[in-house]
Amino acid sequence: MARFKKAIVAASAALALTTAPWSTQAADHSDVAAPTLSGLQAEAVRGVASREKMIQEIIDSLFSFSELGFQEFETQAYMTELLEKEGFSVEEGVSGMPSGWWATWGSGKPVIALGSDVDGIPKASQMPGVAYRQPMVEGAPGHGEGHNSGHSLTVAAAVAVKEIMEREGLPGTLVIWPGIAEELVGAKSYYARDGRFEDVDAVLFTHVGRNLQTSWGGDRGTGLVSVQYEFNGVAAHGAGDPWRGKSALDAVELMNVGWNYKREHLRPLQRSHYVVVDGGDQPNVVPSKASVWYFIREITAKHILENFESLQEIAEGAAMMTGTTVERRIIGSAWPRHFNKVIAERMYHNIQAVGLPEWSEDDQAFALAVQDLMDADNLEEEGLATKLSELQGPPEKPISGGSDDIGDVSWNVPTVTLRFPSNIPGTIGHNWSSAMAMATPIAHKGASAGAKVLAATMIDLLTEPELLEDAWSYFREEQLKDIEYVPFISDDDVPAIEKNAAIMMQYKEQLKPFYYDPSKYSTYLEQLGVDYPQLKPKR
Ligand SMILES: [Zn+2]
Repeated sequence: MARFKKAIVAASAALALTTAPWSTQAADHSDVAAPTLSGLQAEAVRGVASREKMIQEIIDSLFSFSELGFQEFETQAYMTELLEKEGFSVEEGVSGMPSGWWATWGSGKPVIALGSDVDGIPKASQMPGVAYRQPMVEGAPGHGEGHNSGHSLTVAAAVAVKEIMEREGLPGTLVIWPGIAEELVGAKSYYARDGRFEDVDAVLFTHVGRNLQTSWGGDRGTGLVSVQYEFNGVAAHGAGDPWRGKSALDAVELMNVGWNYKREHLRPLQRSHYVVVDGGDQPNVVPSKASVWYFIREITAKHILENFESLQEIAEGAAMMTGTTVERRIIGSAWPRHFNKVIAERMYHNIQAVGLPEWSEDDQAFALAVQDLMDADNLEEEGLATKLSELQGPPEKPISGGSDDIGDVSWNVPTVTLRFPSNIPGTIGHNWSSAMAMATPIAHKGASAGAKVLAATMIDLLTEPELLEDAWSYFREEQLKDIEYVPFISDDDVPAIEKNAAIMMQYKEQLKPFYYDPSKYSTYLEQLGVDYPQLKPKR
């Protein structure tokens, strides 16, 4: 045990560029109270530690591709090649999504599926490692959420564990799958509907965060229906004979007014928002086509469906008022999340054993500069996290907020989400500021800590059948006690794979010169000529 702890300290010390005033943090998370890992778990953790280079290359490569949802084709090609090289069989184009893939290795039970999202954010292009706004390509997408980092954990952990399974003759199947178009909540309900999790025993999902943490239960964040309404009217000359026209844009505007009045009489937990996708072509032509895209969010499936029904009535009312017709298309959907108590508790034990990364002085200086730039307030601590958060159970009262279609997965199979500290606290979500750290040592170290927790938890699940039995008892007897999962999508709905195609086509050629070339540069920052932490532009 003692030998193992030394190995971990040595591995993180090798990563740190300088010893820092923050080095006291090492004492914080290696005090007597922290549990330690031994045996196969310690070995799996060492296996991850020996793959720091792999983690860095995956994070930096996916960052450089800057791909939006349903258009993750460079990411797919990169991941497929890497996973095949590591011995996985990869199926491409799954569940009607050409950019999707599904990688498996091994045989028999248990089946452990590791997932993470891969898509970026529109207009979030940002040079990493510099503490000021500088798009790499003006107007282009970028990783302003940090979804470029998650699969460095799944691959590093899976490869480290696979090595042990092979040597020890441990039965089991490892699956690695992507959250395609998570920013459109566009894929996971289709995977679930198509039975992709039917033989899976547990899902370990990872998502970038600002600390190393996990949670169980529900009532934290919303689920949603994402739906686009298209109105069809009659075109006419806007001045010559407007009385002969029926304006689809009028219908969109009336629908939005209707919903904005309705809003006042909904539970405060709801969140709803829209963008006008098509408002016509030019003012002197009465718009014969117009469309609006809504996200309808609530804490419970029942309330999501109620609000969705109201929205549908308002759309039909707007069509009646304008003499137009209306059709709708489901773009995405997500059930509210519910995470497995048994697996989360075990994962939290491993989180305490692994602890937070040892940040260098440079990492902390960069984080502080970014927090200053973004006027970050309400921070639990300044700079990067040095204290582990608690294991989160269900909140006393439901907490509203964002959604993730991992919700649908969590109602099909015992699931947890591991958050790992690859990003800087206090940056704005879905914004270029959340891309600044995502190809720097902060992202690499945060992912490495997360991958160690993932690997240790996989060993738990592979070697303790009773742990999985308990997880399934919680799933069946507690989680599903009063709630039956019925997907928000029907058998006829299809993924909205046309989304983002035009944007990616517009920017792809400009982004290509920025793709990371690991054969020439040891890091992406080196390729970009960034002096990390670059706090001011070079003269
Ligand atoms: Zn996300």
